[in-house]
Amino acid sequence: MIQDISPYRYRVEYENAAPQADSPVLFYDGNRVFLKKDAPRLFCYREAAGKVNPDGLQYLFAVETAAGERRSFFLVSREEDVRALTQGLAGSWEPVRVFRTLQPRVEAFAIITGYQLYGWYRDTRYCGRCGGKLEHDEKERMMRCPACGNMVYPKISPAVIVGVIHKDRLLMTKYAGRDYTRYALIAGFNEVGETIEETVHREVLEEVGIRVINLKFYKSQPWSLTSTLLMGFYAELDGSDEIHLDDGELSVGEWLTRDEIEEDSNQESLTWEMIENFKHHGDIL
Ligand SMILES: [Zn+2]
Repeated sequence: MIQDISPYRYRVEYENAAPQADSPVLFYDGNRVFLKKDAPRLFCYREAAGKVNPDGLQYLFAVETAAGERRSFFLVSREEDVRALTQGLAGSWEPVRVFRTLQPRVEAFAIITGYQLYGWYRDTRYCGRCGGKLEHDEKERMMRCPACGNMVYPKISPAVIVGVIHKDRLLMTKYAGRDYTRYALIAGFNEVGETIEETVHREVLEEVGIRVINLKFYKSQPWSLTSTLLMGFYAELDGSDEIHLDDGELSVGEWLTRDEIEEDSNQESLTWEMIENFKHHGDIL
């Protein structure tokens, strides 16, 4: 999965650190990221220095090697610095979805995680309570309003992925009206006041009109494209297996046996790990 970057370790703790010569710097424009042609794909501060104002560099996170060596990642937050860099460096704009296949994987993870923080910083400049200009907190990854004291943290939306199992079959779906046309599992966002287990029951009922029991938590995954924390559950069909599709959400909903599920080279998503896990392992519930 995208977050599996072993032997590296992701270090999310906030630091008010200054960039070093070899610190990677990330810069984005909407849904695009500026990258070198060859690995390593990320530019480092040594290459960017002279073209950026150090005050416009925002600390993001660090990645540690197995030997404990730490590299801090920075975001170029000023648009004029981004313009200067793209004119002065040999690279090109790529869609952030390049993270799905980009090598090395540790850079792919940094690109998509940095993208979530880029979007949050870009959209978190003014206080939602009083309209004042927000300031960076020095100790935490947080924006603070000096006028009213409002504190704003990055938004993370919990959501579920559900692998519904009925005997030797898994309930597979396809989304309606989206670019993503491969098979998926039932998925949906947690709503205000709801437990994550209630989200599982509600989403399965809404999307395919069936009921489930025997929920089993599998794994979670940060999905930075949508600022989501995905929580993967398997569940067992309870009652009728007749599918009533919510055709505004889904175009396909069908029970597939292990043999009917096709192999997929896609390895970055929790959805596909859960499908592969069902296909290749017996005892899930
Ligand atoms: Zn305020």
